Amino acid sequence: MPGFEIFGDEEKKEVMDVLETGVLFRYGFDQARQGHWKAASFEKQLCETTGAGFSHLCSSGTAALSLALAACGIGAGDEVIIPPFTFVATFEAVINAGAVPVFGEIDETLCLNPDKLDAVVTERTKAVVPVHMCGSMARIDKLKAFCDAKGLTLIEDACQALGGSFKGKYLGTFGAMGCFSFDSVKTITCGEGGGIITDNKALYERADQYADHGHDHLGGSDRGADGHPIMGSNFRISELNAAVGVAQLKKLDKILEIQRRNKQAIKDAMTGLPGVTFRDIPDPDGDSATFLSFFMEDETKARNTAKALGEAGVDGCAYYYDNNWHYLKHWHHLKTLSGAAKLPLELLENRPDYASVLVPDSDAIIKRNISMQIKLGWSDQEIDQRISKIKETIKG
Ligand SMILES: *Cc1c(COP(=O)(O)O)cnc(C)c1O
Repeated sequence: MPGFEIFGDEEKKEVMDVLETGVLFRYGFDQARQGHWKAASFEKQLCETTGAGFSHLCSSGTAALSLALAACGIGAGDEVIIPPFTFVATFEAVINAGAVPVFGEIDETLCLNPDKLDAVVTERTKAVVPVHMCGSMARIDKLKAFCDAKGLTLIEDACQALGGSFKGKYLGTFGAMGCFSFDSVKTITCGEGGGIITDNKALYERADQYADHGHDHLGGSDRGADGHPIMGSNFRISELNAAVGVAQLKKLDKILEIQRRNKQAIKDAMTGLPGVTFRDIPDPDGDSATFLSFFMEDETKARNTAKALGEAGVDGCAYYYDNNWHYLKHWHHLKTLSGAAKLPLELLENRPDYASVLVPDSDAIIKRNISMQIKLGWSDQEIDQRISKIKETIKG
């Protein structure tokens, strides 16, 4: 991670195509655009990459989650089970849909624990949104089986796991819909952007409509002639952003190859270091390898080790238990329901009291976790230096 490390002439060329025609809008202007349809080509490529039947690009990963929830009919008062370890966008999208985030637990995959879902399901539960955190996967087969058995909608937040797979099937293709982010620090980036994938044509059409004010895109070159089967919003991506994505997506295989090689070298070197164990990865072959996540024996050791690694110059080691953005403990704005204005959630009598939600399993896991970013740009020499610094720091 991330794709911006390898920007080159390919991105420039795609962007220049757009600037030279002056058509920054993804719809219409058929003559003026001289055959350049960047958003549409990115969507086609995303389907080819993941094996999904349909894809729709939008303005961010957060928008992708909103599109997926809307397309799947998740709205006012519906409960959506999510993990307490994710980026805040996951619960924001649920709340913005008028729905109710309900927290499950994570396991040592660092993702939602399928065996702990029963404890939080109620008759209001409509969907489960596992998050494939830090480049690797949840036990997605078990999560899917649970959702199928209970009649719940599975939506995958694969924003951090583009290119990852489980037993040969791409992450994002297990649920009714899968969501990706192409923001500036993700595996590939287009500045700001996101996308959904699905095999269900009706869900795809709903997402496509919802992202563009409900336009059914059936009116031909006259947007005014489009029908509006639903009310939507504006989550459109511009051709400029999509153009960068077109070039970046072509580099995905290369990116994954470098990440996997770099991660393996460091993981091999860390194997056997005192107190170090690794994150559980349900299918190691499908790891997108953006992070090397490991555990120390307890909270104190993990916090001290993360700090010592930083001081030794081993950058990019996150101690997520203390992070404001990725773990429930510090989501004070959620705990106090501090919206910019009154939230639909506040009208519900049955909503969880977020200030008192307890996730003891997740606490115990995240407290011991350190997640190290894997960079694309490291030279062999830099990797060797990194390894010796790590070994010096974690001597026991
Ligand atoms: C980045 C991210 C998002 C949101 O993506 P944006 O494009 O930044 O809106 C959602 N979920 C997870 C897990 C993410 O890491």
